[in-house]
Amino acid sequence: MSPSQATTATVFDVAQIRADFPLLARTVHGKPLVYFDNANTSQKPESVIEAVNAHYRERNANVARAVHQLGEEATTAYEGARDKLAHFIHAPSRNEVILTSGTTQSINLVAYSYALPRLKPGDSILTTVMEHHANIVPWQLVAARSGATVKAAPINERGELILEKFFEMLTPDVKLACVTHVSNVLGTVNPIREIARECRKRGIPLLVDGSQALPHRPVDVQVLGCDFYALTGHKMLAPTGTGALWARRELLDDMPPFFGGGEMIREVRFDGTTFAGIPHKFEAGTPNIAGFVGLGAAIDYYDSVGFEAIHAWEQNLLAYATERLREIPGLRIFGEAKDKEPVISFLIDGAQATDMATLLDLQGIAVRSGHHCAHPLMQFYNVPATLRASLAFYNTREEIDAFVVALLKVRKLLM
Ligand code: PLP
Repeated sequence: MSPSQATTATVFDVAQIRADFPLLARTVHGKPLVYFDNANTSQKPESVIEAVNAHYRERNANVARAVHQLGEEATTAYEGARDKLAHFIHAPSRNEVILTSGTTQSINLVAYSYALPRLKPGDSILTTVMEHHANIVPWQLVAARSGATVKAAPINERGELILEKFFEMLTPDVKLACVTHVSNVLGTVNPIREIARECRKRGIPLLVDGSQALPHRPVDVQVLGCDFYALTGHKMLAPTGTGALWARRELLDDMPPFFGGGEMIREVRFDGTTFAGIPHKFEAGTPNIAGFVGLGAAIDYYDSVGFEAIHAWEQNLLAYATERLREIPGLRIFGEAKDKEPVISFLIDGAQATDMATLLDLQGIAVRSGHHCAHPLMQFYNVPATLRASLAFYNTREEIDAFVVALLKVRKLLM
């Protein structure tokens, strides 16, 4: 069955799903909003908005510092989010889940607390050409301080990691490998289990950037076999400023704190401070409590819909959007991996990505244009920027149709 013949209505009731996301009902420049910038940040369901609201209305207090009722309720709600997250990624222990402000902080934590103390001149960190800057720049910063280098494994024209090359590059100087689970530009899904197996054979720890995977597919860190998994909440229905780092306990136990301050200590003395155990040793200061309450609600929402239905719907949308976009003369898609999430980067001959995004916005369509924080990938394809339509399970075929009509209009205007 071709994607255009598939009857997706049987998968789930998208109208009912959309009704849970208040922002999707608004108009932009007088047109119904078509939100195709989900890889940038997702919209939030009512249940998440309400959870944050209820936190501030009913139980706002700081966590872990008060014996009063509100403090206990806030702590329970905040720690409840850790439990939900541990369950969501199938972490062996809740204590291995460090709550952070997002993937960027999670990766920097590994860079400064795990990598920097271990790196020496001649060592290297292996990453790939398809990474977000958050999985490149922290490694460059610690490499510069330690005399190590950062190597990048190549991809092919379809935007797939060349696995043999990656494995060849896992030489003894490599002290850490860092790979994205799903590319934010190409949608490519990397075979993390296979990569983890090869890394393990060579005794090289593997960090996975899960930012773009968790919104689309179930993740089980134990099945993946990686050592670090970084994630961000705002791309998966949760508030901004929430995220986590999962890592194996033995690695975390061995890592010194990154931020110092309140809540991460056992005892502070001028003749020697001792630190709390994991996870608190890495969580100095007051966290984004309400945000994490929202993250807990986001996970409940994913659980209520189910990834099987989400995946089926999104893959159908991806196939349909790809088929429809190919009808547009002069359109080139970047990223044609066999295993792909619903992210489509493209350009149309003779039109600038930013001009197109601006004109699409006037028609109510939100897409991202630019380098998507992936300069090396733009250099690989030898383009300064692309347009990116990134879909979520609350998007529809009708929106894709409206997008194609708008693109044809914009193309005409710019030709
Ligand atoms: N990694 C990938 C693949 C991303 O797409 C992003 C965000 O766009 C990040 C890392 C950074 O996430 P955050 O800004 O939430 O820390």
